[in-house]
Amino acid sequence: MANYVTLADFTANEPEEQEGEVHEAPRPERPVLFINAAMSADGKIATIQRKQTRISGANDFDRVDALRAESDVIMVGIGTVLADNPSLTVKAVQRREARKKAGKEENPWRVVVDSKARTPLDAELLQKGEGKRLIAVSQQAILEDIDQLGKVAEILVCGTERVDLKRLLHELWLRGVRRVMVEGGAELNWSLLSQQLVDELYTYVGNMILGGETAPTLVGGAGFEDAAAGVKLELLDTERVDEGMVLRWRVLHEAAAGVAKEQDATA
Ligand code: NAP
Repeated sequence: MANYVTLADFTANEPEEQEGEVHEAPRPERPVLFINAAMSADGKIATIQRKQTRISGANDFDRVDALRAESDVIMVGIGTVLADNPSLTVKAVQRREARKKAGKEENPWRVVVDSKARTPLDAELLQKGEGKRLIAVSQQAILEDIDQLGKVAEILVCGTERVDLKRLLHELWLRGVRRVMVEGGAELNWSLLSQQLVDELYTYVGNMILGGETAPTLVGGAGFEDAAAGVKLELLDTERVDEGMVLRWRVLHEAAAGVAKEQDATA
């Protein structure tokens, strides 16, 4: 049997556990995690300037907003915070209200993967909108920076060099987080995929070519040496949105098990 979980495995309407019931395979103690990204037809997620680039349109922004509103956490790498300064808030008023009605905060937790605590204090995601913020740092972070950021966000020290993503996800699970949406960037996507921490992937493919060897692609990092070691995907759905296409993929963990090179396991 394939070793993967789907978003549906973690819906709010899970059946009550019956007394004496035996579970053959315990659920992994991490939230379900999916990546959403927009890329050009040549696979670039930004230009050579590595700045936020409009690749999709209004209908796709709305699709992304709905995914945000359904998530417990929106996670990004510090590279994305420094390049794009996103607020990562839920934009539609009715979606924020629906979250409140359901007893949640207006916005999902905003989580930054940031070994050295470089998140600027005036970053939009720290300033805009209600909701918790968590900065995951490693032991590389300077205490002074942790102190400053600790005034506006929860700080979680996990990992010696880089952020230990498995541990971070487990900590989020322990805090009740069941669904994580990752919104970039390339290096974080690589670490999560190569460590088999991703369940699904939404890629919007836009009607443009950005080119440039140094422009970031959907997945950066060290890369796999051969295709056999690569992460395998199953296409779940396709939809034409604006002038491009949304592809929804399931990540097949079994296919990559044992061969994925965990280049980021230095944490
Ligand atoms: P990133 O993936 O957002 O962040 C990477 C950084 O996170 C690392 O350099 C590292 O910095 C930190 N980090 C800490 N622990 C890590 C770990 N275990 N694994 C990976 N990273 C870890 O940055 P990026 O690759 O430069 O991507 C940013 C680019 O993506 C920008 O050009 C942005 O515009 C683009 N982007 C595009 C989209 C889209 O959908 N089109 C979405 C988001 C971003 P430290 O060592 O300092 O901690």
